[in-house]
Amino acid sequence: MIRVYKFGGASVKDADGVRNVTSIIRKTEQPLITVISAMGKMTNALEELHRSFFEKKQEEALGAYENVIAYHRNIIKDLFGDGDACMGFNDLARSLKGIISQEPSMHYDYEYDRIVSFGELFSTKIISEYWAADGLANKWVDVRTVLKTDDLYRDANVDWELTPRLIRKAFDGKGLFLTQGFLGGTINNLTTTLGREGSDYTAAIIAYSMDAKEVTIWKDVPGVLNADPRLFPDAVMIKELSYNEAIELAYYGAQVIHPKTLKPLQNKDIILNVKSFLDHDAPGTRICERKGISEQVPVYILKKDQMFVTISPRDFSFIMEDKLIEIISIFRKFRIRMNLMQNSALNFSACFDDNGHSERLMEVLKDNFTVRYNQGVNLLTIRQYTPESIEKMTVDKEIIDSQVTRKVARFVLK
Ligand code: ADP
Ligand code: ASP
Ligand code: MG
Repeated sequence: MIRVYKFGGASVKDADGVRNVTSIIRKTEQPLITVISAMGKMTNALEELHRSFFEKKQEEALGAYENVIAYHRNIIKDLFGDGDACMGFNDLARSLKGIISQEPSMHYDYEYDRIVSFGELFSTKIISEYWAADGLANKWVDVRTVLKTDDLYRDANVDWELTPRLIRKAFDGKGLFLTQGFLGGTINNLTTTLGREGSDYTAAIIAYSMDAKEVTIWKDVPGVLNADPRLFPDAVMIKELSYNEAIELAYYGAQVIHPKTLKPLQNKDIILNVKSFLDHDAPGTRICERKGISEQVPVYILKKDQMFVTISPRDFSFIMEDKLIEIISIFRKFRIRMNLMQNSALNFSACFDDNGHSERLMEVLKDNFTVRYNQGVNLLTIRQYTPESIEKMTVDKEIIDSQVTRKVARFVLK
């Protein structure tokens, strides 16, 4: 029975992290497929590099490149005793340098994927060579050759026809496999990515393709809690969740699981374990087919730094079906996803993440609507709410908008 493990950036942020992951792998029976993210915050650093490169700020781009390389060399030095010891890394570093020494194309998102993908390529090459040197035989797979997508760069859609077949071919047999999260490739072998934080989704795609029984994603938290412990120190563990509940949590923005991860797993009844890489033997959270959630406690999800906009048609027309279609098409055009929407006779309101296009969105909206907006608001969702939980979370806060159903209460807070 094949297992799939996924390790995020936090688990491999330094040499000790890599050694810790290695000790988890050593304890696990094979065949085992491990999916690994970029080390630490390297995806952010590579985003900076991409921006400078695309804006043709040569010097800035070179500086960002040097920082990324130095970060990895430090880890390599600690692991191998010599910063130049990892051949696969040296080759990749040369090709990245080659890319940024040339002119960028005019396609922002294409260049983004070409550059940001180096984070996962670097981390997996380093870890694969480290394992080999440490006597842990493994096979490095370039996921871009098997996880096939369309060419919607930065948010690519999986080709579900080709991908499972290619994955089964690449990961057949016994042993230990190592591959990259987050990345894909078009049928022309151009690099794509699945959206930020997409490595959980990669693990699910591979598990689905391999008919795995379970996937484990190893995190810096003991499992799924009823709130983000960084924001709510007294958050409590949830031992077991249904796929439905987990999908809802991810949909409302709980960072712990990427929203696309659950569907492929649910479709084949594959169990998802969320466990702590800091405490390997603790049970963590199990997500499977069941009714609801094991703990009857309110679950809090906070999306910070949101835009909140309210618009009203200038000509006093009602917000009816046709108007709604028009409004939603405008948001769609700018690829802005609404995290909350609400309408009344003459108003339509929405809460969303600023993806860099919201200024242009506002301009277009202003052509036909009166527009009012707030920046930097918080969107709080409480599932399984109680009157006390609402009171506790909203006391002393200005509520700009709210939406309460039987199970879920949502508030836009200043
Ligand atoms: P990865 O290392 O896989 O990228 P993330 O950092 O994306 O992991 O996700 C783990 C983080 O998610 C935790 O550090 C925690 O702060 C946050 N988080 C948000 N909501 C929850 C929740 N309900 N339960 C557990 N962790 C949560
Ligand atoms: N490295 C990517 C990111 O930080 C993918 C991931 O970690 O899931 O977004
Ligand atoms: Mg992450």
